[in-house]
Amino acid sequence: MSLTTVHTVADLRAAVADWRAKGLRIALVPTMGALHDGHVSLTKLAREHADRVIVSIFVNPTQFGPNEDFSAYPRTLPTDQKLLDEAGVELCFAPSVDEMYPDGFATKVAVDGAMTNVLCGAARPGHFDGVAQVVTKLLLQAMPDCAIFGQKDYQQLMVIRRFSADLNIPVKIIGAKIQREADGLAMSSRNRYLTTSERAIAPTLNRVLGSITAEAVKGTELGPLLAKGREDILSAGFDPIDYLEVRDAQTLELISDKVEKPARIFVAARLGKARLIDNHAINPDVSDA
Ligand code: AMP
Repeated sequence: MSLTTVHTVADLRAAVADWRAKGLRIALVPTMGALHDGHVSLTKLAREHADRVIVSIFVNPTQFGPNEDFSAYPRTLPTDQKLLDEAGVELCFAPSVDEMYPDGFATKVAVDGAMTNVLCGAARPGHFDGVAQVVTKLLLQAMPDCAIFGQKDYQQLMVIRRFSADLNIPVKIIGAKIQREADGLAMSSRNRYLTTSERAIAPTLNRVLGSITAEAVKGTELGPLLAKGREDILSAGFDPIDYLEVRDAQTLELISDKVEKPARIFVAARLGKARLIDNHAINPDVSDA
């Protein structure tokens, strides 16, 4: 089956209804396009859980702040379609902004509390409300059996788990491992903002997270580890560091002394035009899969 692209909710629902009538299982992979191998790995995982895979491509304006890269965000639909076709994806849903937010649209979805005020939520006010709003819509539009999200955006995955449970959205949320380049840099659509020299510096984030994790699992005090990590990131050329923090893998509560439970170390830092994020698991953690 080759890839079909639809642009309206009506056409998406017609395709889904057809598959449902045949008793097929359906997976959704929401993306903002500018697809890379990280996205492709999500479609592979989707295939393990479903007979039909839908990838949505929508650069969602409501999750970008006023000074963020919404207009500059790469839009590469023809290349994305080719990649999805090669990956065996059946349906691409690529709605316009008007299709998603028609005149009169007035509904917000907000996730309160500790989970959304920290990390990227602190640096990007309103970001997770925008994510919750668009993902709620995509889940209700497609009504798949499951939806796949990358641990690359770990906080986003936790927020999506929260509101989909709170709102009784009957879709299984599945987390997928971070895909990395050969030198360890987490794949990201924003990596294409990097110049050649920045690209050489970028794997520092993964390296620093790896060395802190190796020490933290031994029960080493986090304070000095994080201080040294910050120094290494800044001296590599990142500026500023939005955060370098260790948090509970489930609740995202800050851990400031020693790691004694499943935790995660998170970093966000700017390198030239790109704001890069990454995270590693500290201690075995199966709860986020
Ligand atoms: P984006 O298009 O950046 O919004 O990402 C769409 C989905 O792909 C999200 O669930 C991301 O977490 C996931 N994703 C992005 N980069 C990676 C990566 N390097 N490894 C795994 N998943 C990723």
